[in-house]
Amino acid sequence: MLTAAPTATRQILQTQDLTVSFDGFKALDRLNFSLEEGELRVVIGPNGAGKTTFLDVLTGKVKPTRGRVLFKGKDLTKLKEHEISILGVGRKFQTPRVYQNLSVRENLELSLNPDKRVFSTLLGKKHLREKTDALLETIGLSRKDRVSAGLLSHGEKQWLEIGMVIAQDPDLLLLDECVAGMTDKETEATGELIQSLAQSHTILVIEHDMVFVRQIARKVTVLHQGSVLCEGTFEDVKNDPRVIEVYLGSHKAKN
Ligand code: ADP
Ligand code: MG
Repeated sequence: MLTAAPTATRQILQTQDLTVSFDGFKALDRLNFSLEEGELRVVIGPNGAGKTTFLDVLTGKVKPTRGRVLFKGKDLTKLKEHEISILGVGRKFQTPRVYQNLSVRENLELSLNPDKRVFSTLLGKKHLREKTDALLETIGLSRKDRVSAGLLSHGEKQWLEIGMVIAQDPDLLLLDECVAGMTDKETEATGELIQSLAQSHTILVIEHDMVFVRQIARKVTVLHQGSVLCEGTFEDVKNDPRVIEVYLGSHKAKN
């Protein structure tokens, strides 16, 4: 009789020897990183560690000098940005990219329905409305659905944009320092939003704000000079002498 194999966790993302040189300077240096399906991972590291460059390579904005990025087993390194996005990598940028003059609802509808024909029937319209309502609920903006996006607070715009990325149903959601410039209250609400999204999405968060990292962190990866310095729980990495050293070092360099 066949017995069921233990359910193996599947790797959704893996980088192998990933290197990015800018005129000889290695922003990423043989980075080996992997992420399992369903994970919520936080990547931290001092300024200049290579965090943004890492996301830029994952999304195809920057091409690696050497190494590979495997997403669901497929090599992304030769693909264009829009091809990577179609494969299921969704990125929320640091600065909001919402349509200021459209309402919150209209912004979400556009992301859910870039091709108007699909939802043009009566049933289709009802379906679109229901999907939009559910997204509004998720991002906590149900009561502001008719407000122009341009009138939202900084934090609310960020939530709207997270909603717009989720609307595209990505298999991997990338968030780059999304709480920068938010109030403490907005930051905390964003943490709750990310934790609720993590129940049904694989999420990679690049972050600087340590209070926020503590709130959402499960496994943390510390980047330093373009490669992985260490990985572990928030407490593990916070107390790791190598991490303390690189953070103090970058602080000293700034002052
Ligand atoms: P982080 O997001 O961790 O602060 P970045 O990925 O933005 O770090 O940058 C890593 C390093 O690469 C920095 O030293 C930065 O100056 C350098 N760098 C980033 N982008 C470029 C570029 N387009 N040209 C030259 N150097 C760059
Ligand atoms: Mg950065």
